[in-house]
Amino acid sequence: MTLPVADPWYRTESLDPRLWLITEPHVHPIFSANMHLVLGRDADLLIDSGMGIAPLRPVVDAIRPDPGKPVICLSTHTHVDHIGAAHEFETRLVHPAEADELAAPSPYSLKSADIPAPLAAMFTESGYDPLWDYLVDAVPSADYNLSAYAIPPAPATGLVEDGDMIDLGDWQAEVLHLPGHSPGQIGLWHEESGTLFGADAIYDGPLIFAGAGMSMADYTATLKRLRDLPVKIVHGGHDPAFGPDRLHQIIDHYLALWGAA
Ligand SMILES: [Zn+2]
Repeated sequence: MTLPVADPWYRTESLDPRLWLITEPHVHPIFSANMHLVLGRDADLLIDSGMGIAPLRPVVDAIRPDPGKPVICLSTHTHVDHIGAAHEFETRLVHPAEADELAAPSPYSLKSADIPAPLAAMFTESGYDPLWDYLVDAVPSADYNLSAYAIPPAPATGLVEDGDMIDLGDWQAEVLHLPGHSPGQIGLWHEESGTLFGADAIYDGPLIFAGAGMSMADYTATLKRLRDLPVKIVHGGHDPAFGPDRLHQIIDHYLALWGAA
């Protein structure tokens, strides 16, 4: 089977003068995660690094006004769609609960048939499109080898926990530990603008809460915590950004679904 070539692989979009969204339009929607790039005075911040199917660093450096400036790669958790290109960055932050996975990522296949049946069933039941033959509908180059896909180790150079601050000199955000979807799931809270980077704890699409390493009890506490934040905008790990009304709708929906309202 030959897939078409998609070049460029990544789509980039400026959301405001200092915030960029990078996506992989040719990855299946359930694995197509958002990467956010925040431009700072002393350093830039990349929140998540996608599937690692095509080199990401050149794309990030092309956006950065000063590619010589340090760039921090923060992995919000270590699912395959968030850590693929972490190894391309010198500074790599993650929560301690997921540091082992970042240092030695589990093998993963781009072939949908290789996805364990219970996981595949959960994806379909949670409302996502049927899986394609592969997790991609294109390749980044004609000589790309789908079966050689693997995530290179990217041992953390620093660990971040709840309450830690990410400081770009003129932009500071607080690390929120938001377990549930994964044990070391973190988000970022930029209080000054009321911006929440919700990662896979909260986004405007089917939330994934039942699988290996997931906990509905933890997820319930996480959603209740997010409900109380004075949020103005949420940039999630998947799907488009949304505001506080939608945030509360999503939270109330899942808490009711789980009998935890
Ligand atoms: Zn995830």
